[in-house]
Parts: sequence; structure tokens; C-alpha cells
Amino acid sequence: TAWWSHVEPAAKDPILGVTEAFLADPSPNKVNVGVGAYRDDNGKPVVLGCVREAERRIAGNLNMEYLPMGGSVKMVEETLKLAYGENSDLIKDKRIAAVQALSGTGACRLFADFQKRFSPDSQIYIPVPTWSNHHNIWRDANVPQRTFHYYHPESKGLDFASLMDDVKNAPNGSFFLLHACAHNPTGVDPTEEQWKEISYQFKVKGHYALFDMAYQGFASGDPERDAKSIRIFLEDGHLIGCAQSYAKNMGLYGQRVGCLSMVCEDEKQAVAVKSQLQQIARPMYSNPPIHGALVVSIILTDPDLKKLWLKEVKGMADRIIGMRTSLRENLENLGSPLSWDHITKQIGMFCYSGMTPEQVDRLTNEFHIYLTRNGRISMAGVTTGNVGYLANAIHEVTK
Ligand code: PLP
Repeated sequence: TAWWSHVEPAAKDPILGVTEAFLADPSPNKVNVGVGAYRDDNGKPVVLGCVREAERRIAGNLNMEYLPMGGSVKMVEETLKLAYGENSDLIKDKRIAAVQALSGTGACRLFADFQKRFSPDSQIYIPVPTWSNHHNIWRDANVPQRTFHYYHPESKGLDFASLMDDVKNAPNGSFFLLHACAHNPTGVDPTEEQWKEISYQFKVKGHYALFDMAYQGFASGDPERDAKSIRIFLEDGHLIGCAQSYAKNMGLYGQRVGCLSMVCEDEKQAVAVKSQLQQIARPMYSNPPIHGALVVSIILTDPDLKKLWLKEVKGMADRIIGMRTSLRENLENLGSPLSWDHITKQIGMFCYSGMTPEQVDRLTNEFHIYLTRNGRISMAGVTTGNVGYLANAIHEVTK
């Protein structure tokens, strides 16, 4: 029987497809600014020193037993401190239900499945634009999606007025997905004042905020500062959800280590919610992988390694911020009449350049520069060696 003759190839993932095309290009000048992974100034992947040291301590010393369904308790404990604050009362009062997740993606997916199971008629409001996988995650969890305004193409900044209108016009008690910092793909974050207004309006409307925090530390170089949006919501007493990832800020991409947490009304509710999250995980993957969780807990429980980590995160963020300045200066020095302010105003790994899909196609076809057709430049792929070439190519296609 032809069991699978009706199966057609799936559509290519817009982000992963860029890397494939890059790898297939034989040009010596090729540049990959598509991938959302950090590179050093030579364009090479980076393993942090704190991670290498943690691995050295693990090697030969620890067993490989299963973790519990909820993952490493120690890793989760340390991870909550990063999001909620070292001295958070919510942590002390055990009001947070939290489980280790398969990085940020897995955390979002666990939440989406939980939402479907326990709020079956709800929808999720997602910003326009957003990380493309958000759409897939909630689609596969069978949660209907709505969108809210976020990016303003003319100003290349936040469309705050429309965002607030959408928050106000959504039915009371709606679920919203918010990027905690370093919004992907736009690099546009609300200011502190704007976060306060958003939080206030969420309170008025009784909305639920799920924060996707894939870049804590990557935006400003300081994980505390990057958690400001969350802290503002907590001050207002919101029962938020939070998806955390160590892919970017610890460079643990392929280790798939992250955490989903949900603030509850009291300890009893937190115990119940956690047990249900575990029950969602059990038939999907039973329990999460151990190695990355060990690396994280070793780093965060050793004051010296934690200090080294903070220094290394800052180093990554600073290199990216430096490249933003350099790219902008190069474009200005080439005499580009366009405004490139947004390159340095936007924050985090990405620059939402404003280039059209046709201009991106020219960058790729004529200059061997690879990025997604929405014009998103991964600043992590920009180096002192290629910034001039990149600026020149951008100038040529935007003339
Ligand atoms: N959320 C956002 C906004 C992201 O940009 C990413 C990664 O690109 C993720 C979540 C999830 O990444 P990971 O599953 O590797 O932690």
C-alpha cells in the first residue's frame, strides 16, 4: 500500500532555509546575517568560558540518570531568580509553578498546550510581526490566534498608540504574548514608561501576559535590566507566565535548556499547575535532557562562574552594540541619504532594516549576503571584517 503517497514536502522554514542557501553558496565573500545565533568577530560560533568550565566539572563526575518530569530543580530555582529577582517574594512564597523546558520553544509550546487544556475557549494575541515560530506553536496547540499592532514601519519603532488600542479592544481576560526584551525580529522594545502603561491597561482589562524572554542579557548586557518589563508587571500584581531560554545568553543553543514558569495565587495552586505541566510533558518527551541543565546550575550556583557569565553576556551584547554603531557609520559615510538611526535605536540580536523583499533578494543574488526576506539583519553575524562590505551592499540596493 502506498501509505504516504499523498505527503507533499513541507514549506521551508523561512529562517532555517536561509542558512541552507548560505552553506550552498561557494562565494568567498558570502555573509550570513540570517541566523539568530551569536558569532565572534571572526564569524565563529562561541562557547562561553563559564560553560567550558562547567563542562570540565561535569566530565566523568556525574551520572546520567533521568531528571524528574519537571527537570532539574536546582536549574529551575536559579532560572526563576533571573526572571523574578533574587529576593522575589513570589519565589519565597512558592507561588510560581515552574518546569524545565526544551529551551524557549519548548517553554512556549508547554504553555500553549496548557492554555488549550485549561482555558479551552481562549485565544492568543501575538504581535505583528513576531518570531515566525510563535504562529506554528499556537497553531499546533490548536489555540486560535489574533494579532495586535506592534511595529510602525514608517518610524521603524513601536506603534504604541495602536498597540494600546488593540489591548483595550481585546475582550476582557485575553491572553497576550509579549517579548520581554529584544523583540524578535524588530529589535524594538517599549520604554519603561510604556511598559507601565501596558501593564496598567492589562490590569484594567484583566488580560494575561505570557512573556517570551529568549534574550535576557542580550539586549542591554545586563540580565537584571532586561527583566524590567517583567518586574513592572509583577509590581502591578499580574499573574504572568514566562518562557526562558539559555540558548542565546549562555550560548547553549543545541542543549535545549529553558524554563516555563507561571505565577499562581498561592502555593497550593502552584503545586497543581506544576503537576499539570508535568503531565503535558510526560507523553511528549517524558523528561528533559540533563546535560545543559547541569551546565546552567553549576554556573549559576558558583559565584565566580556566575560573575564570569555576566561578564561574557555583557561582552556579547557590547560587541553587537558596537557593530550597530559601525554599520550605521559606514552607511552614513557612504553618503546614504536615508536615515539609519534605527540601527542603533533597536536593541538585541536583530536589526529590522526596513529593506523590502526585493532589496533583500538583490543583496543575496548580487552580493551573496543572506538574510530573511523581511529585511531582518542578525547583528551577531556582522564583524569588523564584513561590516564595510555589508554597508556598501545595503547602500547599493537602497539607492
Ligand atoms: N522566542 C523568541 C522570540 C526567539 O527569537 C527564539 C529563538 O530564536 C526563541 C523563542 C526560542 O529559542 P530556543 O528554543 O532556541 O530557546
